[in-house]
Parts: sequence; C-alpha cells; structure tokens
Amino acid sequence: MGDLQKSELQNGGRSLTKIVVVDKCPGCGSTDFRPTGPEAPPIQVVLDECEFLQPSYSVLECSECGLLYRSANLSDQELSDYYARVDFHKWVTPGYYPTEIAALKILRRLHKGARILDFGCSSGRLLSDLVGEYDCHGLEINVEAAARAAACGLKMLASDDLERSLPGSFDAITLMDVFEHLSEPTGLLKKLARLLKPGGLLIIVTGNGDSQVCRRDPAQFWYFRNVEHLSMFTRSYAEMLAVKIGATITCWEEVSHYKMTPLVWVRQYIQDFAYWQFRSRTAISRLVLQQIPVLKRAKHWPVAPALTVTCDHVVAVFSAGRQVIEQ
Ligand SMILES: [Zn+2]
Repeated sequence: MGDLQKSELQNGGRSLTKIVVVDKCPGCGSTDFRPTGPEAPPIQVVLDECEFLQPSYSVLECSECGLLYRSANLSDQELSDYYARVDFHKWVTPGYYPTEIAALKILRRLHKGARILDFGCSSGRLLSDLVGEYDCHGLEINVEAAARAAACGLKMLASDDLERSLPGSFDAITLMDVFEHLSEPTGLLKKLARLLKPGGLLIIVTGNGDSQVCRRDPAQFWYFRNVEHLSMFTRSYAEMLAVKIGATITCWEEVSHYKMTPLVWVRQYIQDFAYWQFRSRTAISRLVLQQIPVLKRAKHWPVAPALTVTCDHVVAVFSAGRQVIEQ
C-alpha cells in the first residue's frame, strides 16, 4: 500500500483513525475504473473502547480486471489493530456454513492423505473433521484462533514457513472468507498457487460481486458495510487470476453463506423490498408502504438493510497447470 495516499480523519480536532484512499485497483494495479453508484456513509465500530471509523466511500469496478473495491479503507496498521482486538468467536457457529459444506465436498474427493492448507483457517473449523484422513495444515494470524486450530489437530504454519515451502507442496489450498480482507490479493494468490502440485486445487470462497442483489448498488450491499471487507471477487477478476497463476477455473458454484430460519428470511426480504421501493420513489411506496407504521420507517433508513440470505457467495476452484506461470 506504499503509494496509497494517506490522510487523517478529524473529529472535533481529535484524530480518530488513519485511512487510505485507494488510487489503483488492488487486483491488477490499473487506475481505470467505473463508478458503481453513489457514495455510502461511514461505518463506525467500537472494540475495547477503541473506535474504528471507515470513512464514507464509493465502490469502484476496475475497468481492466473487473474487481469491485472500496475507494477508501482503514490503513493496514488500523486493520491489524482491528483484527487483534476483534473476538474471533464472531465467526464461530455450531455446524458448517453452506459455503463450508460446498468446500468440504470438493476436498473429500481428494485422495486420502492429501496435503491441504487452509490459509486464514481461524479456529480450524473447516479442516478439523478431515484431520486423520488428510494431512491438514493451517495458517492464522489471530493467536487465540490459531491455538484452537492447533488443538483441533491442524499443523500450524507461520508466514515464514510458507516462504520456505517448496513449490508443489500441497494438493489443495483453501481461502474461506479471506479474499475480501486482502489489500493486495493477486500477489498472495500467485505465491500460494506456486505451492500447489500440478493439478492441485486453489479453492477461493468469498462474496460474489456479480450477484444481482449486490449490483443494485454495491456500496450499500451488506458485504461492503463490513469495515474489514475491502473488495469483492467477480468472474472477470477470476479469469484474469487464472491466467496469472497458470490455472483453469474448474468450478464456479454460487451459494449462500448463511442458512437462515424462515422467519429471518421473510423479515430480510420485506425490509429489503420496503427500502428499495422508497429509494426508487415508486407508487407502491407512496400509496401502500407509507401507510404501514413499521414499514414506513424504511423511507428514512440511511443505508440498505442487510440481505444475507441470497446466493451472494461463490466457491471458485482453480486447477493448477503443470507449470505455474511467473508474471
Ligand atoms: Zn483491476
């Protein structure tokens, strides 16, 4: 992020947080982009009495590779501080997410004893049931989560271990809900791809920037309303990545991250419907929704309500070629 412009956000003369204005595509470095919609308001998060303030931002679509990315973010230093303070239990739920079920189905097709690395493995929840049948490795920067993963039987690696790993070391490498956190994803993915055996699998599970609900206005979409989500994967970006790492896209499965109860499902869709009717100033909003006490509040919501029940994630699988291309 060296050539990103850095600035300080002031509030009543007190410096709150450092931000970076993103002046080139994090995926390919291009400075050409298309706007995707109006600016979205700031996001405030308080952890351990420490405030993190994502400034107002737009979401840009790279004209070269098609990646969607935020025009301003917290700095890498601020994000590191955020990850150090955040309670990793917020990602821990009983059972598997639908995205994890899809990834496990692919991993279970590998031969027994296959060497698998889960990059950003959190508590080891994806691979813990495969330990014993497969040679399971993890890498995780959150110390508490890494300790949990080790207790589950994953062989934990440090970043330096990866640097020293020989090309062709792994049969599969997974990144579950990691891509969107990376400030420079392509360089890391090229490094990881070099560690795959010929025919080995790079499995990326993340938000799908091509999903219809996202494209209505990406900056408002719930995915970008997370301070730590910097960009969104798209098919166009995936195809550029495949060329750079000398791989073939062998699976593109669109799934929902969450399995919600019918009550939550209905509530989210009603709120979403009401918000977009008011925002589009439709006759339904004026003649019907305006008369319903609970729903007329949607007229004043500053941002779209979270709609997390759609198939807005993708399980993308890249099969490594015989020789990974250096670019
Ligand atoms: Zn790009």
